Amino acid sequence: MTGDPLEPDRPPITGWPELLTVALTVEPVVWRALQRYLGGALASRACSGRLREAARWAATRHVPWDPLSRGLHALGADCDCEAWEVLSRGCWC
Ligand SMILES: [Zn+2]
Repeated sequence: MTGDPLEPDRPPITGWPELLTVALTVEPVVWRALQRYLGGALASRACSGRLREAARWAATRHVPWDPLSRGLHALGADCDCEAWEVLSRGCWC
């Protein structure tokens, strides 16, 4: 994880949404849809402790799961509620 403000050599990613788009390898419209889905799923049932709902969402929408899950893990999300938190950070809503 980078983002150290004391490391000027690294070109800054202008914001969290841009970072998400790069890390998750999907367009903003896609991960925003996942964020909304997870918000609804977590409101109705507890987190499974895994990326179960996220994987289900990806499968039903034919979103490649391997790069998406790798990106989520790289961003520190190991379960659905952490994925929701990652996707909601720097909230635009
Ligand atoms: Zn969780």
